[in-house]
Amino acid sequence: MAKVKVKTGKRFRATRADNHYDTIVIGSGMGGLTTAAFLSLLGKKVCVLEQHYTAGGYTHAYEREGYEWDVGVHYVGEVHKPSTLRRVFDVISEGRLQWAAMEDEYDKVIIGKDEYSFVAGRENFSNMLKERFPGEDKVIDQYIQLIRDISRYTPKFFAGQGMPRWMAGLYNKVRPFLVPKEFFQTTRDVLEGLTSNQALISVLTGQWGNYGQAPADAAFLMHALIAKHYLAGGAYPVGGSSEIARSIIPTIQKNGGEVFTYADVDEVLIKNNKAYGVRMACGAEISADNIVSNAGFYNTVKKLLPNDVQSRLGVDSWIKQVSPSSAHFCIYAGFKGSSEELGLTTTNLWIYPDGDHDNNLKKYQADPNEEFPLVYISFPSAKDPDWENRYPGKSTVEVVTPANMDWFKKWDESQWQKRGEDYEEFKAQFAERLMEKLFERHPQLREKLDYFELSTPLST
Ligand SMILES: Cc1cc2nc3c(=O)[nH]c(=O)nc-3n(C[C@H](O)[C@H](O)[C@H](O)COP(=O)(O)OP(=O)(O)OC[C@H]3O[C@@H](n4cnc5c(N)ncnc54)[C@H](O)[C@@H]3O)c2cc1C
Repeated sequence: MAKVKVKTGKRFRATRADNHYDTIVIGSGMGGLTTAAFLSLLGKKVCVLEQHYTAGGYTHAYEREGYEWDVGVHYVGEVHKPSTLRRVFDVISEGRLQWAAMEDEYDKVIIGKDEYSFVAGRENFSNMLKERFPGEDKVIDQYIQLIRDISRYTPKFFAGQGMPRWMAGLYNKVRPFLVPKEFFQTTRDVLEGLTSNQALISVLTGQWGNYGQAPADAAFLMHALIAKHYLAGGAYPVGGSSEIARSIIPTIQKNGGEVFTYADVDEVLIKNNKAYGVRMACGAEISADNIVSNAGFYNTVKKLLPNDVQSRLGVDSWIKQVSPSSAHFCIYAGFKGSSEELGLTTTNLWIYPDGDHDNNLKKYQADPNEEFPLVYISFPSAKDPDWENRYPGKSTVEVVTPANMDWFKKWDESQWQKRGEDYEEFKAQFAERLMEKLFERHPQLREKLDYFELSTPLST
């Protein structure tokens, strides 16, 4: 059996870091690692500072009870064929990161009793829809053309972000004339502009969990980019999702850079209106010519910027315009038996009680006892061709459903594993309901269950 090691990065100690770098990147998620690797390839010495015990942000994996689970990479599109994204991964990992294509049926959308197979390839997707929705051929062609157009115009939409502030202000005023109007509309508005067939709209938005918002709230831009991203199918990192960070870190180390873990940044140091370094939670200070924060919008402006800078910039008014991203529960389950023995395939399942995604989510957000508006099931061990080398005779499953941050307010200040009995009870109810959803689809797994746990928004 191959040795299992999912932790990546080097533990931070002030004595292990240099005093000065070309660039400091705060946060080792996909964005941070990509930025750091590109800068390193351009000859820069880059220090990535990650507060967690392992690098990778949502691409990290964790081990428990003899199993390993990914936390935020269930499938990636466009990397199992020549594409810009594949090229980016090849460059930043210098060819170390390998991808395994999933089966052709990468997603199965299950709405009530109806099942829809999302099969890799634009033609297959289009044919499936036309077969299931006779008379809607024109709408389906228009929809596919539209998501391709959105993708094509996206660089124009975001171009202002690469401009000086004064220029971006002007650019953003003319932007509505440069891109399709759908860039500024919600998914539901755009789709209802194309068709009144609600069943078709429900299927077209059958992957809404990928962007965390139901169609009435989700920007069509987000929907279109993700829908197009998966049109050619999905792939999974060979060796599991921790391979993403593991394969990129050597590129960053090449020019004397490093990716530190347990490296909690407390504040960005600013003098004369310019960031010149960071202060760590342990008090150590590190300086750099440039500071990049990939710690998330809220963390960056509200936690890392000094208070006087926040007031000067009027950060509180920015915060009001941005709502927090969606929260979720996830079951991480381990089973005795290989994926083959248990009949598990790589196809993701998207399970809905019926097609009214907006209303179902609204009802559930108001009352957690309502039916789950969406249950997403992924089979990571089946997707990874290297899994059997590391964990022979075992399988893993993940089951995800939305959550509401407000349900957890009373435990906000509590500590992991010390949140009290009422919290454990609340969790147990969700865990049981989600496991039942899994067993409804895969009854053979009930007898083979070896271990499971549930994450809540407090732990992810
Ligand atoms: C449940 C779930 C499933 C998903 N599934 C998929 C999928 O199948 N396919 C896909 O392509 N995408 C998927 N995603 C989305 C994808 O995982 C994320 O969009 C992506 O990984 C985010 O990368 P990031 O670099 O923006 O941020 P993050 O990964 O969030 O990284 C930010 C990092 O900053 C660190 N940080 C924050 N504050 C500090 C500080 N003060 N000091 C030091 N470090 C700090 C954090 O610890 C974190 O590691 C999924 C997401 C979730 C939540």
